[in-house]
Amino acid sequence: MKKTLIKNALLATVDPDTADLPVGDILIVDDRIARIAPSIETDDAEVVDATGMVASPGFVDTHRHNWQALLRGVGANWSLFQYVVQMRTMYSVCYGPDDAYLGNYYGALEAINAGVTTIMDHSHLQITEEHSDGLVKGLQDAGIRAIFGYGVYRNPKYTPGDDIDPSSIIAEIAGPIEEFHRRNAARVREEHFANNDGLVRFGLASSEFFTFTDMAPILEELAWSRTLDPARITFHAAFGLNDVNIIENLSEAGALGDDLLLSHGNSLTDSQLALLAREGGWVSSTPDTELQMAGTFPVLERVVASGKLPSLGVDIVSAFAGDMFTQMRLMLQAQRFRDNERDFPGAVPFTTRYPAADMLKYATLGGAVGMGLEDQVGSLTPGKKADIVLTRLDAVNTAGLRDAVSALIFYANPHDVEDVWVDGVARKRGGRLVGEDWKVLEKRVQTARDGIDERFARIDGTSMRRAWEPVWGLASGASD
Ligand SMILES: [Zn+2]
Repeated sequence: MKKTLIKNALLATVDPDTADLPVGDILIVDDRIARIAPSIETDDAEVVDATGMVASPGFVDTHRHNWQALLRGVGANWSLFQYVVQMRTMYSVCYGPDDAYLGNYYGALEAINAGVTTIMDHSHLQITEEHSDGLVKGLQDAGIRAIFGYGVYRNPKYTPGDDIDPSSIIAEIAGPIEEFHRRNAARVREEHFANNDGLVRFGLASSEFFTFTDMAPILEELAWSRTLDPARITFHAAFGLNDVNIIENLSEAGALGDDLLLSHGNSLTDSQLALLAREGGWVSSTPDTELQMAGTFPVLERVVASGKLPSLGVDIVSAFAGDMFTQMRLMLQAQRFRDNERDFPGAVPFTTRYPAADMLKYATLGGAVGMGLEDQVGSLTPGKKADIVLTRLDAVNTAGLRDAVSALIFYANPHDVEDVWVDGVARKRGGRLVGEDWKVLEKRVQTARDGIDERFARIDGTSMRRAWEPVWGLASGASD
């Protein structure tokens, strides 16, 4: 039995039972939280002095394309159109199986470093069996809690430098699920997830349903997906495009359910949200991508109004930092702006109604509920798994802070994350990743990045973009 005793932490438990306990101790026994109390004494535990630190549940990210960690910074000025052109038909083919492994391994460590202990990995880099195995192993080796969402997107089949016809590449990736994915997903499920109750679980990331013009292949794919008994089926929904009234049609077919996790959903109507609330289906809002690319406002507050807990995600780590501090802050302030605009038109608001603490709940418990892991994680609760984050408050940017919630939402960044446990295992201690020589890993990341960039440069991006324009109903040259 391994015991760790966290002493004297400022508590942000996200659990109503301990909400009025400002400072206290947490006892970890093996993989679980055994006790939380004002003071715990035990003489056989490793003691961690958490004086001046916030103890919070690990963050839960419900929509992340983790493999894109090696592409950091490419999407700073991207529209959704540019994302689709470059990510779907250019960058993906620049990844070999080793890059797939490293992208997922490094991406998961980036998450852990920032206190994100659980991710829904929407993984659409399933190009060969070797890519899939590398992606799974990357998550497993990093020690993160995750649902590996095997992405059944069609990927382009060419090598950078090949003489290709961009239009036929685009035509190739449209359409329903391929045989390769049916076979490979079933193989991955069997080989890597015999019991689907471990730290990393099997899930599916569906085809891009919003590009489909009829329901039959959608229903068929979902029925097939469910034969693999995935922990979650996740898909992009209503990012501004209307998806064959997918929610009503799924409802009519009896195919909605709480095994579905929709990302974005910005343009879902309130009656569609009501259907999800009644018949099942969770929603992940990703403020960074949605504010940049969606053209419609994040749905989060309307999900709350529908009676369900919402959740947050980083989405594309190719454009945005992988921490949840940023997403909580962006979502909160964007929502406050919307509320102010509605409640005080043309006037200076005399009150701020939106409580900051709600956002912490959505970034932890909301995510756990959305991923079906609320019995295990999402709050600091005795009996739950020990996914715990300690955040220092003695840095130049945090000294003198009075309150745990404002610390986590408005002041902290990943550098302030001092210690992280996942499943009771220390993955970050004293501000450093455990068991990882960062300088060595950094070199591997740089080398992989250079290789990807070198291959990417061999693809004619202008021709690819031109070929996509008519698909989006754009005139030739409109996307310049
Ligand atoms: Zn996405």
